Amino acid sequence: MRVLMIAPPGAGKGTQGALIAAHFGVPHIATGDLLRDHVARRTGLGLAVQEYLDRGELVPDQVVLGIVREALVAAKAAGGGYVLDGIPRNMRQARAAYQIARELGMTADVALHLDADDAEVTRRLLARAALEHRSDDSVEVISQRLALYHQVTSPIICWYRDRGILVSVDAMRPAQQVGREILTALEAMRPFLDHGSQQTPHSLDLTTLGEAFGATGPDATSG
Ligand code: ADP
Repeated sequence: MRVLMIAPPGAGKGTQGALIAAHFGVPHIATGDLLRDHVARRTGLGLAVQEYLDRGELVPDQVVLGIVREALVAAKAAGGGYVLDGIPRNMRQARAAYQIARELGMTADVALHLDADDAEVTRRLLARAALEHRSDDSVEVISQRLALYHQVTSPIICWYRDRGILVSVDAMRPAQQVGREILTALEAMRPFLDHGSQQTPHSLDLTTLGEAFGATGPDATSG
C-alpha cells in the first residue's frame, strides 16, 4: 500500500499515518518528524532548517526532497509500501515527488485528504501545545501554517483528483472513527492495486474490519 496524505496541520496526519503504516506493515515517512529529528541532533541540515520550522515556513524543496528520496529508497528495500506524511506541500513538491516515485517504480496508490476546518485544527494544535512543546504550536505560527496550507498545499488536491487517486475523509470526527473509515476505504481498494507479488490479495469482507476496529457505523462503510 502506497499512500500520501494531504491535510492542514492538526488534522491528524501523524495519528492516521501511524495507524495506516501499522495496519499495512509499511514505513511511516513523516517529513516534519525527520526534520525535527535533525534539529534535535543538531546536524548541519538541522541547524539549516530550524528557523523555517520555528516560523512555520516551508523548508527549501530540495532539502525535503532529498530526505524523502532517501526514505523511499529504504521503503523500496523494505517491500515497496509507504505512508508519506507532510509531503507534498506545494505543486513543485508534488511533481518532484511523483518523479522520484516513478523512477523507483513506486508511485502512490492513494492521495488521502484529511478534511478539517481552521477552527477545529487550531483548537487541536493549541491543546497539543499544552502537552508537547513544539516550537511551532503558538497562535501566531499556527495561523501562518494554516495560511500556507490554504495558499500552496490545498490547491494540489485537484491534481490528485484529476489523476484519479484522491480519497477525501471528514477528519472533524474523533480520531478512532476517522481511522476506521480510512482503513475500510484502503482495504476495499487493496485488491485492485497492481503491485505484483509484494502485496497479499485480501477478500472484500468489510465486516471483519468492524470486529477488528470496533463497531462499524454507517459512515465507516460508505467510503
Ligand atoms: P504540521 O503539518 O502539523 O504543521 P509537520 O510536522 O508536518 O507539521 O511539519 C512541521 C514543519 O516542518 C513545517 O511547518 C515545515 O516547516 C517543515 N516541513 C515539513 N514537511 C515539509 C515539506 N514537505 N516541505 C517544506 N517544509 C516542510
